[in-house]
Amino acid sequence: MKNIRLGRTNLTVSQLGFGAMHLPKLDQTEADRVMNHALDRGITYIDTAAAYGDSQEKLGKAIASRRHEYVLATKTQKRSYTEAKEEIENSLKLLHTDYIDILQIHYVNYVSEYREVKSPDGALRAAVEMKEKGYIGHIGITGHRPELLARWLKDYPFDTVLFHLSMVQPFAERDLMPTAIDLDVGMIAMKPLSGPFLSRTEEAIRYTGGSAAHVVLSGMKSIAEVDSNLAALEHEVTAEERSQLVQMAEGLDEHGCRRCNYCSCPLGIRIPDTLIPSRYRNRYGLLPAGEELWNKSEEKFSQCLTYEPCRDRPLCERACPYHLPIQDEIRRLTMNSTPARSS
Ligand code: SF4
Ligand code: SF4
Repeated sequence: MKNIRLGRTNLTVSQLGFGAMHLPKLDQTEADRVMNHALDRGITYIDTAAAYGDSQEKLGKAIASRRHEYVLATKTQKRSYTEAKEEIENSLKLLHTDYIDILQIHYVNYVSEYREVKSPDGALRAAVEMKEKGYIGHIGITGHRPELLARWLKDYPFDTVLFHLSMVQPFAERDLMPTAIDLDVGMIAMKPLSGPFLSRTEEAIRYTGGSAAHVVLSGMKSIAEVDSNLAALEHEVTAEERSQLVQMAEGLDEHGCRRCNYCSCPLGIRIPDTLIPSRYRNRYGLLPAGEELWNKSEEKFSQCLTYEPCRDRPLCERACPYHLPIQDEIRRLTMNSTPARSS
């Protein structure tokens, strides 16, 4: 696996990053094993967040003694100065460190949130202050709306940006990455398997690995996952392979869903978890955990089509900033209801 310069941070990091959002599912002994194995195998980019349960605490206990071996990224989802300052200080304690390499303003998906973060009493001021005091190296931003992230990179000199990029969510390649490249911003691409969905894992990891993103950030919870992700990125993706992977991805993004979660469904249909994997499921099948999630929504599809409050104008569609025809998609899925291809 190659090491790479993370844009204008000038940090050198491994191409595969360890996403620590699943640590809350592990006990401390297992977290110790998995995290130390990741470092032993050469992973040097470690990403967590204050919002990920006890992930920071477990991470701190597991590998703080090896702090000089990895670039540490965490996030605050607080929007105000006071709350963000408090949360960052708490992150330093939980992570058993006096230095966070990259502090990211987490999950900014609305223009109003961005304004709040940037206001004189916003979270960004707390991050800047902590940086000036030497507790933070760089400030980044994360979100699920690539075109808004691009706009915000032009507005404020964030050093890194964290975004979705996978075969079923390629939107950042067009809407965000050209701006990040122009500005030399470090690009961290998350969810190469789109969460628990994409069954052809090696191809999925190599699709994201073959893009211009610097880091492929994968959420890992076992030694086996660390090893298989590393194996997938062992060799560089050639231009020829990249074009085959892009061809494989063709049409899988027709749902258009960015997973911004503006929508919600009173019946409990998980809309992005329905739209995003739908075409992939048909063609290649889903991972077992993804299929389980899918089934939970699928049993409500027929109710959706006759649900009175959504008869004239579906509630979810009113909220979607991309004006996606969500109910029509669900109708299409009901009509083409065939068992998924097994993976
Ligand atoms: S159209 Fe269907 S998915 Fe959308 S909110 Fe209504 S019931 Fe839920
Ligand atoms: S359907 Fe629209 S609102 Fe819902 S997550 Fe997808 S893009 Fe966002």
